[in-house]
Amino acid sequence: MRYHHHGAITAGTFEQLSGFDRLLHFVSTREGGISSGNFSSLNIGFHVGDDNFRVLKNRRILADELRTDLSRFTFANQCHSANVAVVNEACKGRGAMELESALPHTDGMITNVKNICLCVQVADCVPILLYDPVRQVIAALHAGWKGTLRKIVTAVVGKMVQHYDSRAENMLAALGPSNGPCCYEVGDDVFREARMALGNLKDVIKPSSKPGKHIFDQWAANIRQLKDAGVKEENIENSGVCCQCNNSLFYSSRADNGHTGRFMAGIMLKKR
Ligand SMILES: [Zn+2]
Repeated sequence: MRYHHHGAITAGTFEQLSGFDRLLHFVSTREGGISSGNFSSLNIGFHVGDDNFRVLKNRRILADELRTDLSRFTFANQCHSANVAVVNEACKGRGAMELESALPHTDGMITNVKNICLCVQVADCVPILLYDPVRQVIAALHAGWKGTLRKIVTAVVGKMVQHYDSRAENMLAALGPSNGPCCYEVGDDVFREARMALGNLKDVIKPSSKPGKHIFDQWAANIRQLKDAGVKEENIENSGVCCQCNNSLFYSSRADNGHTGRFMAGIMLKKR
């Protein structure tokens, strides 16, 4: 991932997605907003206890600095599901200005409609962006450990194939900053659920030095699902950025004991 400065904000981009001028994509950071304390400063999450006015202002700052319009940002009320929404023109802007209008019970969104920016918000969970340059289809999804075990990324790839006639071999995938295998410790309960959901846990769960604890590699688990779905390994870009290790640049729920803001990943097909 590369970092770019736009005014006071800093945003990241993925190298392989940057090669397409019909595409806008970005990962926001904490920098350049007006929220304070644990939310400092570019919190874009309405649902975390921050002041709504400040969150809206932060979103406007981000959209303005990226030379786009907040009314194009489209959010879901994420619930760690494997539910995927096909986003059409009527959905454009849902959840951009307030929490209530976001798409309900959805963790993945796909579209081929221009000028709709699909947005996911995270603070430890993995934000994943997908692009099919052949069929001109984009996707954004949110995969924490629950969504990963429910195979949200598999569901999104499948929906792109089913609804837009995409082929997995043409897709590019990008995994944004999230809690990495350096830090993401889970208990026996998650270990058991993972074994039931995924079967083979090779490279996904590793032993921790602490008794009753394990290291869950969210990146490896999602990359495996992408490859199993037919996405080529060379088309998968992992930022490899751990937000707990890089807590000054990215919100991390674990680093801040659950009381923190959200950063976001967005992707949009531009109208030419
Ligand atoms: Zn880490």
